[in-house]
Amino acid sequence: MPWRTIDHPTTAIREAPMRLSQMLLVTLREDPAEAEIPSHKLLVRAGYIRRIGSGIYAYLPMMLRVLRKVSDIVREEMDATGAQECLLPQIQPKELWEESGRWDGYTKAEQIMFNLTDRQGRDLGLGPTHEEVITAVARDLIGSYRQLPVNLYQIQSKFRDEIRPRFGLMRGREFIMKDAYSFHTNEESLKETYAEMDKAYRNIFSRCGLKFRPVQADSGAIGGSASQEFMILAEAGEDEILYTEDDKYAANVEKAISLPKDAVASSFSEYKKLETPNTPTIASLAEFLECDATQIVKNVLYQAVYDNGMTVLVLVSIRGDQDVNETKITNELSRQASNYDAATLIALTVPDEEAQQKWAAKPLPLGYIAPDLSDDYIAKSKTVAPKFLRLADPTAAELENFVTGSNESGFHTVGGNWGKEYELPKVQLDLRIAMAGDRASHNPKQTLQTARGIEAGHIFQLGLKYSKAMTAEFMAENGKPQPMWMGCYGIGVSRVAQAAVEQSHDDNGIIWPVAIAPYHAIVVVPNVKAADQLEAAEKLYNEMNAAGIETVLDDRPGRAGMKFKDAELIGIPYRVVTGRSLAEGKVEMVQRANGEKQEVALEDVVSTIQGWMKEALA
Ligand code: ATP
Ligand code: MG
Repeated sequence: MPWRTIDHPTTAIREAPMRLSQMLLVTLREDPAEAEIPSHKLLVRAGYIRRIGSGIYAYLPMMLRVLRKVSDIVREEMDATGAQECLLPQIQPKELWEESGRWDGYTKAEQIMFNLTDRQGRDLGLGPTHEEVITAVARDLIGSYRQLPVNLYQIQSKFRDEIRPRFGLMRGREFIMKDAYSFHTNEESLKETYAEMDKAYRNIFSRCGLKFRPVQADSGAIGGSASQEFMILAEAGEDEILYTEDDKYAANVEKAISLPKDAVASSFSEYKKLETPNTPTIASLAEFLECDATQIVKNVLYQAVYDNGMTVLVLVSIRGDQDVNETKITNELSRQASNYDAATLIALTVPDEEAQQKWAAKPLPLGYIAPDLSDDYIAKSKTVAPKFLRLADPTAAELENFVTGSNESGFHTVGGNWGKEYELPKVQLDLRIAMAGDRASHNPKQTLQTARGIEAGHIFQLGLKYSKAMTAEFMAENGKPQPMWMGCYGIGVSRVAQAAVEQSHDDNGIIWPVAIAPYHAIVVVPNVKAADQLEAAEKLYNEMNAAGIETVLDDRPGRAGMKFKDAELIGIPYRVVTGRSLAEGKVEMVQRANGEKQEVALEDVVSTIQGWMKEALA
């Protein structure tokens, strides 16, 4: 069933029970064994989700309310930009994915797409994303420049057979995403919509009550011109963010650039080969030679495999104190795919012994490799490129009189120079990992700071990749057919909901931001056998709901202490307790976020909560 807003007419006819005595709410005292991070533990313990299988979860009634609130905020902000909601099929024909060239990559290489064969023998995939489907729709329905631009979005479950599903809803195999796709006559129009999406995303995450940071992101093999991720800041986040305090730079570490520290000038003025026993690592070599790691050219071997079965050995030269950023190499190798008659890169690995045996003609001088390692090390084979692809990072390319390997175990050379003893690789590009503490490129006075984040959204200028591959063209003003420019914009709705918990909880449980809490308030009856307590609570419950405060009533039998514990665990922002002070016409009111308690006259409860809500949602 498509997503409905909470106040949708069909749901208003018969209100769902908002009495805990009638609700399926089962809380657990113990942390579930399978959960590693607080938000996962808390969502299971507080009865929001149940694990059904690896990376597969049931969203229970309270969770559905949270998901709807997030979806509603997303929907309002998307609609405000003029984007139109639609709903695309989750089951998708192989043929469309063959047109875009992604079927094999998604089903065989990466295996991220679940796929099946129907009774007629037709292959189908379960949608991990919808570029193919939407491009087919646009191709069929958009004929003229007059119909452009257009931005279509949907909110729907996606399927991805993740290698490592984990952390509950954070990395599920079935999860809810908002995905939008825009079509344009030209790049300028695409950039306008991209900027609008950036704004809409900032609004969405702010309205959800989240601390977040937009960061430059890796556009990957697609090579689109720009892409930005929205990171929800949390220690448990899988991504590292590098940013500067002047707020002028923030990037995913995969993408980040920086200025390396200056190299120490080399003290080796003469080229020679030295015996350096037991120095296979940079640290051991620097110690042995009493030199600085910045004086060493390190040569790292990678093995790339392309979709046509071709293996390419890659030798990366980089300064000894620096590390290689594998995302940057992956991008370069993807760009070079056509040089090897391939379409896409399938894998990039540091070849282990077993892998080396498949192509090495003789044992490699590992730990002592020089930039001029001979191509003779590669055995002749139809499926292995006969030459090393040699790449140099500028930190290595700039060095003079450097130390490096000698291609012989136990020996290094010192005082080497490019253009003399070693040929400088033709391909030079930034291949290093930027690190916290590095000077920023935009302003060397700024140093990079580090933070961890959960990728909650990603906006992307796709360019012409899909429209060209699938011939999605429109008739331009000059009467000529042209491919449409495209953008795509995703938000992980279910991931956002859990990320909110990761960012906002304490030892007692969840602290929902008011905007996405399943209910705004909970009325707790300490003792349901006390008629005055129950009566006052029922009255408040009705008044509050009538006033637009979404309220749940804890009218369960049982001890008051258990109910207070549950209320804390579930994390509803405001608690009203009809206890002892009823005798004076008062109730106890507690704010979940700061734990503040106060006695409030019955007639002031609604206005007090309304005041708090106004402040929280401002
Ligand atoms: P990741 O790098 O975390 O694998 P992705 O780059 O594959 O994510 P996109 O394809 O850009 O993600 O999907 C858009 C959004 O969907 C992401 O920003 C994220 O919020 C969400 N998302 C992606 N994969 C999952 C998943 N397995 N479970 C839950 N949410 C996900
Ligand atoms: Mg991403």
